[in-house]
Amino acid sequence: MSRSPFRALITSRLPRFLAIVPLALTAFVATPSSGGAPVSRFDALPQPNEQLGQPVWLPHCAMKVVEWRSTSALRAETAPTEQAYALLDDTCRYAFGQFPGFLRAKKLPHLRDRATSLPAISLLPGNVLLDGKSLRALNDLPSRFEAVAPGCCYWGLYVDSLNHLFLRNDPLIKDPDGTLAPNPRFVRTLTHEISHVLSARLGVWDAVGYDRQRDEDLAEDFVSYMGMHFPAESSAEDLDFHRGRVPYAPPGTDTMPSVVAKTPAVAPQAGSPNANTSPQR
Ligand SMILES: [Zn+2]
Repeated sequence: MSRSPFRALITSRLPRFLAIVPLALTAFVATPSSGGAPVSRFDALPQPNEQLGQPVWLPHCAMKVVEWRSTSALRAETAPTEQAYALLDDTCRYAFGQFPGFLRAKKLPHLRDRATSLPAISLLPGNVLLDGKSLRALNDLPSRFEAVAPGCCYWGLYVDSLNHLFLRNDPLIKDPDGTLAPNPRFVRTLTHEISHVLSARLGVWDAVGYDRQRDEDLAEDFVSYMGMHFPAESSAEDLDFHRGRVPYAPPGTDTMPSVVAKTPAVAPQAGSPNANTSPQR
């Protein structure tokens, strides 16, 4: 049998197009809520001064990246580079291509053949042992995500009512030679979230009725369907991967030995009905 799309993606070097990638990041200026008004779901959206000078369109995602904040401790891995954007777009290409067949395999109907009005994307620090809990980061609940997130901590968050997808900011990771390579765990997170996005936008839940747990189970099943058979990681595990304390690639990825311990997947946490998350472990 041929290699899975996931392996092909992870082992590719992504020599890609994506012609012009504006790298300009706007300065980060936060406006903390000073204990006054409660956080609303709109506080989750990027503020004007947090947005990229020019959104970056990802053709195979049919989505645009509107916000990207790097992590200073992992500057190269979390920077909005052409290689990083290409990994996002390639992950979409593989996932979008496989999703119709996945729905057929699951015997799930859908009302539309094409997803339209797909969300805008923010990439934010997510590791809570670095800066993932800092102001306006992915796990900043008090001043940004409290109204939509089920609680700390997560790697991805899709808020249908805002038509916005919030993701961790580390598409890349350094391999043992120090070369930037696709980060398998970022691919896992994005693939999981793509299931949430596409199932909603193709009208799966309009056809069968929405059930949060079923949506989460479907997203995890899609991750497995795409060839990723490792669980979501904790922030501590993520640090170990990034700092090379353990091999960055999970079991089943043919670029690295299978040293990372295999642990059972953890059930997604229940919580707010507003958002679909990729929980950290
Ligand atoms: Zn989820």
